[in-house]
Amino acid sequence: MKITSNAFRANSRGALQDRNLQDALGNLKRGFQEKRRKAKARLPEFEELQDHAVAIKEHSLDHLDFYLERFEKEVTARGGKVHWCRDGAEARATILKLCKDVNAKRVVKAKSMIAEEIAINDYLEANGIEPCETDLGEYIIQLRHEPPSHIIGPAIHLKREQVADTFREQHSEFPDARKLDAARDLVDEARHIMRPRFLSADVGISGANLLVAETGSVVLLSNEGNIDLSRALPKTHIVVASIEKIVPTLSDANVILRLLSRSATGQEAAAYMSFLTGPRGADETDGPEAFHVLLLDNGRSDLLKGEFERILHCIRCGACLNHCPVYGVTGGHAYGAVYTGPMGAVLTPLLEGLEHAAPLPEASTFCGRCEEVCPMRIPLVGLLRNLRVRLLKKKPDGLATRRRLGVWLFFATRPSLYHGVARLLLRLAAPFGRGGALSVGPRAGGWGRRFPVQGGPTFQEMWRQREKAKRP
Ligand code: SF4
Repeated sequence: MKITSNAFRANSRGALQDRNLQDALGNLKRGFQEKRRKAKARLPEFEELQDHAVAIKEHSLDHLDFYLERFEKEVTARGGKVHWCRDGAEARATILKLCKDVNAKRVVKAKSMIAEEIAINDYLEANGIEPCETDLGEYIIQLRHEPPSHIIGPAIHLKREQVADTFREQHSEFPDARKLDAARDLVDEARHIMRPRFLSADVGISGANLLVAETGSVVLLSNEGNIDLSRALPKTHIVVASIEKIVPTLSDANVILRLLSRSATGQEAAAYMSFLTGPRGADETDGPEAFHVLLLDNGRSDLLKGEFERILHCIRCGACLNHCPVYGVTGGHAYGAVYTGPMGAVLTPLLEGLEHAAPLPEASTFCGRCEEVCPMRIPLVGLLRNLRVRLLKKKPDGLATRRRLGVWLFFATRPSLYHGVARLLLRLAAPFGRGGALSVGPRAGGWGRRFPVQGGPTFQEMWRQREKAKRP
């Protein structure tokens, strides 16, 4: 997927004017942020767990080859098969072959960002196999032919009324006059559509939250129960996982799981926590007859031991998206990529090439909220800054921008002068711009600072007054 600076800016401008999107993103702030804050407060050892989780990831990546091979050995010992895939093309071809081997006509899919990364749905469809999404959010966006806009809430950009309209358009088998006002109505209708699909599917495909080397288990979290149905009902199950999901032991997985749901949705644990360990055993009543795990690299091993290795610690909780002021107003589609928000702004250029994703490292105010809430303590701001440095080395700024930066540097390195000039400019501009904004800063590449012009005291003055008033 190629994205250009112009497209990103145009997408962002469109997003800012989209009333429905802005309302939907408002829910994001009210919901996820508050729930995460409360969940963290309820767990006194949260920060201790973070340190432990970072150490587990560091150790796992330092010995990645060893633990992946151990994982393969355990999966094989339990009757499953591991397939090593260098890139998306190899992963797509492997999945298609596995589907053709069982003459599959229909596949049920649980939510998987890796499946999005390799664009498996389009590929299966082009080869005569029907991919059916079973996660409600993924199902909605599949009906609308849209990509996911959030790593844990693919349809978070939509309001309930928009989903109801989509169902009315697409579900012609239901009466026009039916009630679709409440979330419950929508869930019931989607469930009615999905049930027969689970029963008639030949293959189930899922992603993986974690891979456990010591048992060969694939760990998956969900709140809808669709993962277990996708795994248990079709005769063949295929897991698509990226290599950095490996952890050595079940107890290591437990440390990360305790952070994951709390950081993602503010739950202590997801409603369903599935450990898939091989195909159905002789003494088991359900499960697939064949169990395959695809281990996808797709550029990740190039990041090992380098300045961007820390992004491989990401557990896809979505907290950085939920707290990012840029994501909070543009939503995910503006990024034009599978991975969005701060983690996507780092990962996408690394996986797809900086030249295909140049605007994304710029899509940050560097306020640092993302890394403050990241359960894996990933230094997102530093990684974004390193990407900007790389960009600058590839394409140095023109003379005009360098001159503007020079003026900016002159003032920015003299705080008293900077504040004095800013105060003066704001006062001078006040009679002309009440209710408007004044652009201050280099505006290099379109990113500058805009301060509201209000005529009263500046922010610094207000802060000083408040501090003074607090003193006894
Ligand atoms: S970068 Fe951190 S906060 Fe963002 S999705 Fe990954 S683990 Fe979660």
